[in-house]
Amino acid sequence: MSGPAPVGVLVPAAGLGVRLGPGRPKALRELAGEPLLLHAVRGLRAARSVGPIVVAAPLDEVGPVRALLADLDVLVVAGGAVRQDSVRLALTELPAAVGLVLVHDAARCLTPVAVVEAVVAALRAGADAVVPVLPVADTVKQVAGAHVVATLDRAALRAVQTPQGFRRGVLEQAHASGRLALTDDAGLVEALGVEVTTVPGADEAFKITRPLDLLLAEALLAATCPGVDGGRRAR
Ligand code: C5P
Repeated sequence: MSGPAPVGVLVPAAGLGVRLGPGRPKALRELAGEPLLLHAVRGLRAARSVGPIVVAAPLDEVGPVRALLADLDVLVVAGGAVRQDSVRLALTELPAAVGLVLVHDAARCLTPVAVVEAVVAALRAGADAVVPVLPVADTVKQVAGAHVVATLDRAALRAVQTPQGFRRGVLEQAHASGRLALTDDAGLVEALGVEVTTVPGADEAFKITRPLDLLLAEALLAATCPGVDGGRRAR
């Protein structure tokens, strides 16, 4: 008997990663001797429910990214000027038969398979849009310049990770709806008035943004899988 239809994944990986300091585009920076993007796509391939994967690569790096991911059965397209453009360009390349779509930042390259599968399970249970979230550890204040305007109720806040999951039509509608300057896809969907469901995220799914994050990721890999990244795949 055949199982449920595989889910498509879009991987925006075309950012420069300026906050990481000078060097190659972020997705191609190395972690334990391999580019972040390779770790990220391997992690996705380890999820049973994942089918077609489309990667949006930096414009100048499409060839090298194709070579890097040659063994992982992915389609590589050129990304756009901002993250939303990269997601939209990748979405147009997803096979027509794919009805459920995940969007996963290459920079969250150590995301456990269990988080991917939790997002897929919520979609298959009927959610239109799903985000993995974590409680917020810090107190968060709203500021105007150097001045505090408000202290937000931490108990009601969540930090949002990827993969974010969507019914394909919902994601297409969100990306057709205009160029809102939002930092995630669920934000676009919320703006349509579509309900977004949460599932538990994971500490390991943190986004590699600053140099300290690379050090943390190296330490995490060394602690969980002495043979580079095999342990992550087993999680
Ligand atoms: O800049 P930020 O860290 O929010 O980027 C999140 C993800 O979006 C990264 O994986 C990055 O490579 C990707 N991105 C992209 N195209 C852009 C900018 C960012 O695919 N133009």
